Amino acid sequence: MTDAIVVGCGFAGAVAARQLAEKGKKVLLLEKRPHVGGNMFDVLDENGVPVHMYGPHIFHTNSLRVYEHITKFGEFESYEHRVLGFIDGKFVPIPFNFKSMEELLPQEADGLRKLLLQKFEGRERVSVMELLGSDDEKIRRLGSFVYEKVFVGYTAKQWGIPASQVDSSVINRVPVVLGYDDRYFHDTYQMMPRGTYTRIFENLLNHEKIELKLSTDALDLMEIRDRQIYFEGRPFDGAVVFTGPIDELFGFKYGSLPYRSLHMEFERVPIPQFQPAAVVNYPNDNEFTRITEFKHFYKKGGSSTTILREYPMPYDRSAPKGNIPYYVFPGEKNAELYRKYLGDAEGIKNLFLIGRLAEYKYYNMDAAIERALEEAERIF
Ligand SMILES: Cc1cc2nc3c(=O)[nH]c(=O)nc-3n(C[C@H](O)[C@H](O)[C@H](O)COP(=O)(O)OP(=O)(O)OC[C@H]3O[C@@H](n4cnc5c(N)ncnc54)[C@H](O)[C@@H]3O)c2cc1C
Repeated sequence: MTDAIVVGCGFAGAVAARQLAEKGKKVLLLEKRPHVGGNMFDVLDENGVPVHMYGPHIFHTNSLRVYEHITKFGEFESYEHRVLGFIDGKFVPIPFNFKSMEELLPQEADGLRKLLLQKFEGRERVSVMELLGSDDEKIRRLGSFVYEKVFVGYTAKQWGIPASQVDSSVINRVPVVLGYDDRYFHDTYQMMPRGTYTRIFENLLNHEKIELKLSTDALDLMEIRDRQIYFEGRPFDGAVVFTGPIDELFGFKYGSLPYRSLHMEFERVPIPQFQPAAVVNYPNDNEFTRITEFKHFYKKGGSSTTILREYPMPYDRSAPKGNIPYYVFPGEKNAELYRKYLGDAEGIKNLFLIGRLAEYKYYNMDAAIERALEEAERIF
């Protein structure tokens, strides 16, 4: 007899399943893909380098609780992520910093640096919107330059809409660093697994009270009628932790929540190194947004290397397998649609929604883990 059903085996589902199992609950974990790990699933290439099958994943968190929890299930090595952008034929640091400015605007960089330090005294970073809104014309021009070269093309590719239509919350997050710090993240803990993420999931799920069923769409077995969850045709009153798309759970009764998808194109290149950094963004050239070369994450050698090009594309749930809902579309209209589904979900006392799909929210891995820890506590 199952005490709890968990749908989805990304971090949200796997962490919740483990917590419930440790409290003595018998957990049935259903995952529709043929593997564990959700979007963190990775496999080794011929050089023993983990290749992230759903895009590059770097673990970073400020939460001691998340750090302590996840490191119980696998070894990690510290790793500080740095990203380059290929702009005007040069590789420059992203986020845009003083080095990027010197590379791309060599004549003006000296003056601009002094001006920025004076105008934004004491600040380590500003948003491109602040530059655009400055009362100094030179700073406004720098703002336009960064906006055009770093943001406009990348955004149009990423979201499939002109930058002018992108939610202002996205533009407000585009930073310009007032210094030479070229780290992509600033969290206290920044690391990569010593082996694979997949191994960490295997460790998380290695518990006698967890029964895992892969290649199983929970919605073929489960349905909601009159605020009651039915599993295999019978009412189920144990906890149901759902980490899949909330609109699917409710049969799209209020309409579909939109997502952006990605086509992942992997290539094995017969040279020791393809590019100067783990991730290079292509804001203005090519149809892909970025190339990841995995061996940089792990400081591994080998005479060949695996790279990944990411091509953004519309999400189409009726398309053949592989079209995956990756990014939620921010904005009030979609948030309102989500709230309708949430209203229905809140009427079902044994239903718990966790993760990026069920909560229709961009979550980093650490936030998904934290939510799973919180909700598992709430279940008890
Ligand atoms: C390209 C990309 C790069 C990213 N990089 C980073 C990064 O560097 N660092 C970081 O912290 N975060 C990163 N993230 C975010 C990270 O992927 C998420 O935080 C993480 O996936 C959230 O885990 P989750 O369990 O909520 O979702 P998922 O990993 O998507 O897991 C949900 C699972 O539910 C399954 N499922 C759905 N419906 C059903 C159903 N009906 N029946 C059974 N199973 C079902 C799905 O198949 C999936 O496996 C990135 C995201 C993307 C898209």
